[in-house]
Amino acid sequence: MSQSRPIALVTGGGRGIGRAIVEALVEGGWTVALTWRDRSGPAAEVLSSCAPHAFSYQLDLEDRERPAALVDQIEQELGPIDGLVNNAGIQRVELLAMTSDASWDQMIETNLGGAFRCMRAVLRCMVSRRRGAIVNIASLSAVHGVAGHSAYAASKAGMLAMTRCAAREMGKRSIRVNAVIPGYVATDMTAGLDERAIAHLRAPECLKQGTPPSSVAAAVVFLLSDRAGSITGQALTVDAGATA
Ligand code: NDP
Repeated sequence: MSQSRPIALVTGGGRGIGRAIVEALVEGGWTVALTWRDRSGPAAEVLSSCAPHAFSYQLDLEDRERPAALVDQIEQELGPIDGLVNNAGIQRVELLAMTSDASWDQMIETNLGGAFRCMRAVLRCMVSRRRGAIVNIASLSAVHGVAGHSAYAASKAGMLAMTRCAAREMGKRSIRVNAVIPGYVATDMTAGLDERAIAHLRAPECLKQGTPPSSVAAAVVFLLSDRAGSITGQALTVDAGATA
């Protein structure tokens, strides 16, 4: 398909922060390939609100073979991928001493391994074109200790480290790699938190409005755009000032 709009792949684009990212990218002139794991319904809603500029694909990041095949499929069907947003992720709150090997492996495999395999797949295409940008969605847990987040935080801290290394490797090919660190955002992922826990997370915020998904999305769109042409290897925190 010939496209004048640049093409972005957004993992986990059917719900929450990912959905806001898809909508903001389409609004900003991109064509978006979004992925869903097992909930095709919300992804279909995004497709219709973003028609005709969004397309959906199934992706389970626990399937190690899938990212490379998916990237091939998208490039054949839509065209060259110019932007990747590693947004899909899982979170489980577990004390380190109670975390099973299986739980640890699943968190690292999905959040960190999945982002690694998606980056590897798109970078192999971007390198020959000497063009492209990647944004990895990390978490405040990667930089501040949070009880119950050891595995999640380790996966997100790994994403930040990988972001910096890939930026160093890819700079000479004009490919940029950055991260966004969201603060507390009300989504399905945080829906299980009780009011006290949410109040505790939000207490340090400077801005009353908090962090809606659209604020995270705006940072992602900026970092993928040419306006961020001199920014690579960085992490932009979007947390309503919680860490100011
Ligand atoms: P949600 O739980 O609302 O959405 C998670 C998304 O990830 C869904 O689209 C889901 O797909 C997808 N997903 C989950 N597991 C897999 C898998 N194995 N393979 C492929 N896709 C998968 O989360 P949020 O929108 O809140 O979070 C988005 C990102 O932002 C995550 O990386 C999260 O860690 C990060 N983040 C969130 C914060 C928050 O406060 N909400 C704060 C800091 C970071 P499906 O719809 O099919 O289930």
